[in-house]
Amino acid sequence: MAVLEHIASLRHSLSSASEILVDPFSPDFQERLERWTDINREEPAAVILPSSESECLKIVQWALKSSVPFVARSGGHSEWSTIGKNGVIIDLGRYKSVEVDVKSQTAILKGSILSKEVAVALADAGLFTALGNGNTVGAIPYFLNGGASITTSITGFGADQILAARLITASGELIEVNQTHNADLLWAIRGAGQFFGLVTELTVKAYPLSALGNDRGVIWAGSFVFPLDRAGEVAAVMKDLMDNSNYATAGLLMVMAPPPTRQPSVVVAARYTGNPQDAAAAYQPLYDLKPVAAPGGEVPIQNASDARSALGAKGDFKRFGVVGLHRFDPEAFLKTVDVWKEMIAQCPDAVNSGFNFQWDSRPPRKSELNSAHSLQDIRYWQNNLIWHTDAQNRAAVDSFNDKCIAIMRGPNIVEYVDFANGRLALPFVALSTAAGGFIFDWNHTHVFNERWPPHAKFYSGQTMSTGLLLGLSGFYFLFRTCSSPAMKADSLRTATWLLCMNWIAQLSAALYPGSLPVDPEFGGGFPQAYICAFLFSLIALGFNLEARRLCHEDKRD
Ligand SMILES: Cc1cc2nc3c(=O)[nH]c(=O)nc-3n(C[C@H](O)[C@H](O)[C@H](O)COP(=O)(O)OP(=O)(O)OC[C@H]3O[C@@H](n4cnc5c(N)ncnc54)[C@H](O)[C@@H]3O)c2cc1C
Repeated sequence: MAVLEHIASLRHSLSSASEILVDPFSPDFQERLERWTDINREEPAAVILPSSESECLKIVQWALKSSVPFVARSGGHSEWSTIGKNGVIIDLGRYKSVEVDVKSQTAILKGSILSKEVAVALADAGLFTALGNGNTVGAIPYFLNGGASITTSITGFGADQILAARLITASGELIEVNQTHNADLLWAIRGAGQFFGLVTELTVKAYPLSALGNDRGVIWAGSFVFPLDRAGEVAAVMKDLMDNSNYATAGLLMVMAPPPTRQPSVVVAARYTGNPQDAAAAYQPLYDLKPVAAPGGEVPIQNASDARSALGAKGDFKRFGVVGLHRFDPEAFLKTVDVWKEMIAQCPDAVNSGFNFQWDSRPPRKSELNSAHSLQDIRYWQNNLIWHTDAQNRAAVDSFNDKCIAIMRGPNIVEYVDFANGRLALPFVALSTAAGGFIFDWNHTHVFNERWPPHAKFYSGQTMSTGLLLGLSGFYFLFRTCSSPAMKADSLRTATWLLCMNWIAQLSAALYPGSLPVDPEFGGGFPQAYICAFLFSLIALGFNLEARRLCHEDKRD
């Protein structure tokens, strides 16, 4: 059955405040399809605009019952809130609000409330929270997706602010998500939230404006413009500036051709948090380079992104090319300048694109809450804005972006691949070592084998106990708290050796006179050899991945 045939059954259950748009030629329908980027934009069978949480629930339940796929849309700034004729968009544009509770320093965000609307409501109440650079970005998706903020060093990331949510699950249930109800889901939506359901409400933490380091709720914002051929000098100065955590500087080092002149330039979009008077000293090295222009001044936190509102324009082919990094490498940056020049020469329609390096001289505030957000330690980002108009150049522009990101990441995979999963291999071997003897020997083939003499059972017991002790010792060295990188490396080596010992001993047992891997009544062969080969492979894999991770951690710190 076509999607539109199901719509009739939905229509009568919604209030007059809601709307269902089905005519693709109507201006309303087309307006609702407008989005920040035209990349992969599709046309749905219908756009449904609920006006309340209960209507969101009815629509999701209807979609499930009718097997109609749907996507949610809030601010429409992603490539993902779009779907083809086989589905519908649940556009939250008519359902939105923000309620600030000054006493508990929290805010409840509903539906499609936008980032700027949240910032203004909080500032009116003397508060602020972790928000990003896009005024028209949907606040709920911003928080759910991690949320790199202009105040990350004070507040942590957007995802770190999430205290509770109300969410419609894939089975059509409206559930509470907080520390006591569905706590695992709370962990998951902090950073990976849009994959777990339609979030109707989000409760987030807020902070008094005084946490910005002044009594006016302001930050300093400015920009420094240089011709592109001075990129080398600017990069050298920026390296020192980014590494200097005495001053709370942050912002973007951008390679771009800003309007109206479209002169290829290096532009530093700079912020300073604290006393705005100190910004001049913090950015003195840039002033000393005598930029072509250097406007700047204090700005209320809720207006901090106003200067970048042109970036929120709808239409054209846009996307962000984002990757977390551990340092600023001026040499690599200069190589990306050449890539940008090549891109503009080959694809002039990409003139709005900028290759941007984002920095914060101070680390993100560490979150007290656990979350699925895996980039908690990142304060440097390559954050390219890809923006072009000619569909023919889609692949070419993307490949220049990829090239830029590959240069900034550098050739060493250890620098950017998360090896956390390697840790699982060694604990698995530790568990096998501790429990393996009991699993294979505590049965009729060994311990309860009537034909075995008591002394053989005595040694079987010794094997089980030895395995248990080695496995537990392995666990201890894998997970003990280490106070230094050297101690971590030593613990890893010790754990690995302990885990190897049991299985080396098992293989060696076949060499003793008169011994057999399996009693003839139970078969033949040497099955233990396969188990050992598997476990040794896991040990090698786990050790290598963990050693790389430690080396990576060591370099970073
Ligand atoms: C100009 C600009 C500036 C930006 N600046 C920053 C920044 O400083 N820091 C940062 O971290 N990010 C930034 N972003 C990225 C932005 O935060 C994400 O793209 C965000 O997901 C966009 O949300 P949206 O509501 O506008 O988009 P949408 O396309 O409406 O939604 C984004 C995704 O969330 C899903 N979704 C929408 N509503 C819900 C809901 N209620 N429940 C569950 N899923 C839902 C959609 O289906 C889609 O998959 C910026 C983006 C732009 C365009």
